[in-house]
Amino acid sequence: MPFASLGLIPELTRALADRGYTAPTPVQARVIPEILAGRDVLAGAQTGTGKTAGFTLPLLQRLQSGTPSKAPRVLILVPTRELATQVNESVSSYGKYLRHRSLVIFGGVSINPQIDALRRGADILVATPGRLLDHAQQRTVDLSRVEIFVLDEADRMLDMGFIADIRRVIKLLPRQRQNLLFSATYSDDIRGLAQSLLQNPAEIEV
Ligand code: AMP
Repeated sequence: MPFASLGLIPELTRALADRGYTAPTPVQARVIPEILAGRDVLAGAQTGTGKTAGFTLPLLQRLQSGTPSKAPRVLILVPTRELATQVNESVSSYGKYLRHRSLVIFGGVSINPQIDALRRGADILVATPGRLLDHAQQRTVDLSRVEIFVLDEADRMLDMGFIADIRRVIKLLPRQRQNLLFSATYSDDIRGLAQSLLQNPAEIEV
């Protein structure tokens, strides 16, 4: 099955071809059409399944319509700075033929360059919870324009004790938005988070 049959636009399939990817992985085949349709998604997918492209490709496409904004329209929350960097690189790579700006912010580094970058604006913000909340507290990030919220590796986030931070971030988002939750495993805590976060989600297990 080619990527185009999932509904992806040529700018994205061309970037995929550049990387040598000819067909979607099973998780991509199932999540991409749901995300393009605007549905909430609960996906059980391990690292290595191609989950990053599974959410990155359709959200890049969804950003092509709607109202441009200086404040981020997509927020991707991840547990670690390594994953944040990796996800941001995927966004850049898959989005190379599209107009978009992405920005990654995480803790353990100076906050000032991040403040400057946030001021310049970004469509897609990839962030770890603690540093994002620092920015929120200092009012250097505006989350009122977020249309799509992605929680990546949610199980790892809970293992690292981020549940309270995640809930604090969610409170800062507009009510009306699309939510995507990716987790390798399901615990009661993940189920509880999914229940409070997601509305009528497509449930996808691979
Ligand atoms: P992830 O599960 O998102 O960490 O991705 C695992 C690896 O698979 C990454 O190196 C991706 O670049 C790669 N990948 C993602 N989608 C595809 C695809 N459709 N065909 C081949 N490789 C892929």
